[in-house]
Amino acid sequence: MTRTVYVNGEYLPETEATVSIFDRSFLMADGVYEVTSVLEGKLIDFDGHLARLERSLNELEMEKPEAFDDLLDIHRKLVELNGIDEGMIYLQVSRGSAGDRDFVFPDPEVVKPTLVLFTQSKPGLADNPVAKKGIKVISIEDIRWGRRDIKTVQLLYPSMGKMAAKKEGCDDAWLVEDGHVTEGTSNNAYIVKDGKIITRNLSSDILHGITRAAVLRFAREAQMEVEERPFTIAEAQDADEAFVTSASTFVMPVVEIDGAKVGAGEPGPVATRLREIYLDESIKSGI
Ligand code: PMP
Repeated sequence: MTRTVYVNGEYLPETEATVSIFDRSFLMADGVYEVTSVLEGKLIDFDGHLARLERSLNELEMEKPEAFDDLLDIHRKLVELNGIDEGMIYLQVSRGSAGDRDFVFPDPEVVKPTLVLFTQSKPGLADNPVAKKGIKVISIEDIRWGRRDIKTVQLLYPSMGKMAAKKEGCDDAWLVEDGHVTEGTSNNAYIVKDGKIITRNLSSDILHGITRAAVLRFAREAQMEVEERPFTIAEAQDADEAFVTSASTFVMPVVEIDGAKVGAGEPGPVATRLREIYLDESIKSGI
């Protein structure tokens, strides 16, 4: 099926949608993005994704696209036009195209940001069978840049990490810096020990996951103990449970780290319960 996508104010068939070869996201990874999931045709955690987008733009001194205030309508229209029941909406803003290549930022009065959105249909996203058996991760050194709190399109290293995991028969990689786990290639990382949920504290070392914020809120509301601090791979291998969170995987159990089984080597009760709560609550509050 040909998708209808959004580019700079226009809804177009994907085969007709184009951006310039001089676009700064193409030449310099000078762009930021968001991924919002869709469940039962509704947008999940939309306000959080919009707020983080605004923060990413501010941190990079990038202009807001003209249609910023219309983003909810644009998301909803794409869901409708593409008949999305379960899936994701990808949104990218770049600093635009100055019609040439130059390290200096173009004048924002002259060069306007590029705004692109497209849908990804993923039937069965909520009822993902992978969540019932969990995923296996490897650890790799975190050599990304120092502003991981900004959601930029510089995804080469995370992509290489995912490929390294696949080569070893695993699903994903956890990134390690100074002996401590920062996060997964495209998710936030957690362990559970003696009923306590442990996840790295927020800083510029990790992306401030929108799913993370919601899951920690639900965990605290359910009287679960949460500790936000760095942890090591050895501590994770010795934990009772491990899991990751992201907008497209929600809460996903991790059952093996660098070849060592976590707990019983199957999804644990805390991750399973948090996945249920997250899905129930966020579908209820979806817009
Ligand atoms: N960390 C990284 C590095 C990510 O790429 C993502 C997903 N984009 C996350 C964490 C999870 O963030 P969110 O819950 O907002 O999807």
